[in-house]
Amino acid sequence: MSVKYIFITGGVVSSLGKGLTSAAIGYLLEMRGVKIAMLKLDPYLNVDPGTMNPFQHGEVYVTDDGAETDLDLGHYYRFTNTPLSRASNATSGQIYDTVIKKERRGDYLGKTVQVIPHVTDEIKEKILACSKQEPNIRVVLVEIGGTVGDIESLPFLEAIRQFRYEHPQDCINIHLTYVPYLKAAGEVKTKPTQHSVQALREIGIIPDMILCRCEEALSQELKEKISLFCNVPKDAVFDEKDVDHTVYEVPLDLHRQKLDERICQTLHLQTHEPDLTRWNQLLHAVLNPKGKVVIGIVGKYMDHQDAYKSVFEALHHAAIDAGVGLEIRKFESDRIVEEGSVEKAIGGCDGYLVPGGFGERGWEGKVLTAKYCREKKIPYFGLCLGMQVLIVEFARHVLGLKEAHSTEVNPNTSEPVVSMLSQQRGIQDLGGTMRLGSYPCAIKKGSLAEKCYGANLIQERHRHRYEFNNAYKKAFEDKGMVFSGTLDQGQLCEISEVSGHPWMLGVQFHPEFKSKLLDAHPLFRDFIRHIATGKGLA
Ligand code: GLN
Repeated sequence: MSVKYIFITGGVVSSLGKGLTSAAIGYLLEMRGVKIAMLKLDPYLNVDPGTMNPFQHGEVYVTDDGAETDLDLGHYYRFTNTPLSRASNATSGQIYDTVIKKERRGDYLGKTVQVIPHVTDEIKEKILACSKQEPNIRVVLVEIGGTVGDIESLPFLEAIRQFRYEHPQDCINIHLTYVPYLKAAGEVKTKPTQHSVQALREIGIIPDMILCRCEEALSQELKEKISLFCNVPKDAVFDEKDVDHTVYEVPLDLHRQKLDERICQTLHLQTHEPDLTRWNQLLHAVLNPKGKVVIGIVGKYMDHQDAYKSVFEALHHAAIDAGVGLEIRKFESDRIVEEGSVEKAIGGCDGYLVPGGFGERGWEGKVLTAKYCREKKIPYFGLCLGMQVLIVEFARHVLGLKEAHSTEVNPNTSEPVVSMLSQQRGIQDLGGTMRLGSYPCAIKKGSLAEKCYGANLIQERHRHRYEFNNAYKKAFEDKGMVFSGTLDQGQLCEISEVSGHPWMLGVQFHPEFKSKLLDAHPLFRDFIRHIATGKGLA
């Protein structure tokens, strides 16, 4: 049986939620019993997003095999069971890097190296490689980043045109477009969609289905108009309206319109009706919460809604799991110091989370947050940098080491309680050189971490250069710090907990990357449950 390919392009504007839509389609196919794989193709020239500022790009999602990838892979993980690895994301930078290396090696045997066929061949290789990640993959969903009409995405579009030409029975194109409502005219406009489909046709791609992002569901009349102008059958025009409550409504909405059925028919895939019972149950919990918990996130990129995407989602999964509502309050950590009083700046939440981050800005505000939580016995959850902050705060105010710091912020500190990982010293390049990917972590018996995980050996994903400095381990333990997770057969402290505090825990890894709607992460789950129980909600 040949592998089938679904190419998903975007038109009119960016930020339409192509990643989320692709993930929702992936989920529906899986529920129909189809084994899928997903690939994101990004047109930018960075080799990966690892060196990009979160304000530019949002979160960097890390896979088990240590690839720093586009945040859309987080959507794929949260909605589906697709394999996720280095083979799941490719950028123009990566493709060109491979082509140029081949050219330098002489692999092209004296030929002129060109976008067509050499770059497009490389893109097609990536698509094929994605289908071979695991046995029995039946459908590969390929999301093309950017917007049709951009110069930089042209090689990708040309590659998928060729791919379909070479595999005519096995491919479909879905075009996600925007159908705006013009308030002043009181009308919904289809013209931008017509133009974007026209741009696709000029390249030689004819969409099989059109998905229209819109504020409200489209009338039959409008769908027929789009069908006529864009040359797709009437029942191949779908709407994807803004969700009322949560993005997890998207697959149900698409299923109601029979999108998954249409895809399977067009690709001649034999499947069964999807069983969406559990998903529906969880959505019921979202719509009918019992009270709410309020979590303050104290970070550095709070104004960018995608910079901590997986953290927000993991908190939501945990709240849904506990059957409670969730309010997230966002605090810019550098403003806390300016406010003068921590209570005034961030007070009033049921618990606080300090996420990952880099560099000096906002450090002291995070340390003040940890101090506030420790002293007032308010739940605190530190992720990566959030654990390093917990360590520095404890050193300064419990151990009395006033100069304690991370060498990331103060390389000359006399008390380097957080310092550079030994394997990191001497590395010059910034791209792809951190401690990245999945590592085993042994969990201490009787610890809070053990209660959360219910296991003594776990695997979590990392992305950092600094770590707790083991020279201080005994001093910390003497004052009540419990290092409840350590690298299996290694020295690194991966989890730290403050004993005597109801819930104060930091992790050197990124648990947020491994939380799903159907499987909330154990640490997030316990953090929220602990708070909900304290409020009499769970
Ligand atoms: N900047 C810190 C380090 O490199 C933390 C990284 C992070 O939070 N991902 O160790």
